[in-house]
Amino acid sequence: MKARRLLVYFVLGLALLGLIAWTMRETISLAVASRVATARLNIDGVSELPDGLHVRVCGAGSPFPDDRRLGPCTVVIAGTRLMVFDAGTGVRNLTRMGISPGRVDAIFLTHFHSDHIDGLGELLLQRWVTGGPAQAVPLYGPAGVEQVAAGLMQAYQLDQGYRVAHHGEPVLPPQGFGAQAQPFSLGDAGRVVVINEGELEVVAFSVDHSPVHPAVGYRIRYKGRTMVLSGDTKLSAAVQREAKGADLLVHEALSPRLVGLLTDAANTSGKARMAKLFTDIVDYHATPEEAADTAREAGVRYLLLNHIVPTVPPLPGLEEAFLGDAPRRFTGTLRIARDGDFLSLPAGSTAIQTSHRF
Ligand SMILES: [Zn+2]
Ligand SMILES: [Zn+2]
Repeated sequence: MKARRLLVYFVLGLALLGLIAWTMRETISLAVASRVATARLNIDGVSELPDGLHVRVCGAGSPFPDDRRLGPCTVVIAGTRLMVFDAGTGVRNLTRMGISPGRVDAIFLTHFHSDHIDGLGELLLQRWVTGGPAQAVPLYGPAGVEQVAAGLMQAYQLDQGYRVAHHGEPVLPPQGFGAQAQPFSLGDAGRVVVINEGELEVVAFSVDHSPVHPAVGYRIRYKGRTMVLSGDTKLSAAVQREAKGADLLVHEALSPRLVGLLTDAANTSGKARMAKLFTDIVDYHATPEEAADTAREAGVRYLLLNHIVPTVPPLPGLEEAFLGDAPRRFTGTLRIARDGDFLSLPAGSTAIQTSHRF
């Protein structure tokens, strides 16, 4: 009897608390929003990290619409340097991931397919207005990067003018907006050292994304930790060569089986043009199994699949269908990237810590 009375009081108490929270919902939500805003204004995404190489997935997707994977974007933090590789729609995740765009030191492009550059203007703008240095950001890429930078700067010129007129030059120095193109040549060897700053080395190398030329991947080494980004490529001996002995391989992946479902659906719906597009994309990407073979042959310990084609909704068994035989071909750690994934490779260690943070 006593227990029953206690239960009634407990339920009534909960109901009362709920009623108070409901009545004060606006005040509570405003207080939460204020705390979030303050926290976001005071983060830079770098200073709290231990020394090492850190990877934050801002966009694990492709041109296919995917709630969990925006367009290609990978943040690499090496010591105090913050670099962004590819600038797809995933750049919108930076702030959400606790990274201030004003902190971006350099941007690297793998190639100029639209899904890899359609967030670039946004990233340049965000870097400028969130207190980036009063100089345009270096934009590294193979030949063609100067054309991309010049075209984008021209398209954003009016916007830049409006903002300077509105806020004033001391707040938004005009020279802080934009990108300084830093084209590199791959030479006969098909590879070039792009950054060599002692502890940090960034190498670009040719991959096979034909008919897209040039298209590159990147190898990043910092204090003994090494990672390789494949960029968009089909099965590539160059990726395997560059990934030899690396800690981490971030490799693109397309599932022909799932793309085949889309092709069939397009054919059944009488959409021959879509069916042709779906058929065409298979031949210039790598399958999860091919990425797994590359990782195994290179001897890497961790394979992170990104540039996921097509969309993999969170349905039971669908990730397994996407991976196919990959888990049997590569027995190290294998993960399908999602926006918000955070991999940490501390200096002076062999550890790779994985978490998912937004
Ligand atoms: Zn792509
Ligand atoms: Zn591409």
